[in-house]
Amino acid sequence: MHAQCYVCQELFGDSDVVMAPQCGHTFHKTCITQWLRTKKSCPTCRQTTSNKKLGRIFFDIAFSVEVNSADLQQKLDEMSRELNTKVQLKQKADEELRKCQ
Ligand SMILES: [Zn+2]
Ligand SMILES: [Zn+2]
Repeated sequence: MHAQCYVCQELFGDSDVVMAPQCGHTFHKTCITQWLRTKKSCPTCRQTTSNKKLGRIFFDIAFSVEVNSADLQQKLDEMSRELNTKVQLKQKADEELRKCQ
């Protein structure tokens, strides 16, 4: 997800409330409502609009996929570290065993 708010130039974050006029351009709720208090058009395409025409946009699916893949990557890293440690332990044990024989 790399959508940007045209008003403040910031990327949308997980917890941001995102609103869109009927043209479909997306903005932070606070940015667009403030903008529309003085101007009556979309900041991006200048199509006439108003606060009453805003609809909320939800990015749940895209965001949760991103979060999950980061989580999975971290788990994978942890597991391969653990595996490495176990392989090393086994090699040490094998060496000890050979010394005893
Ligand atoms: Zn903004
Ligand atoms: Zn627009």
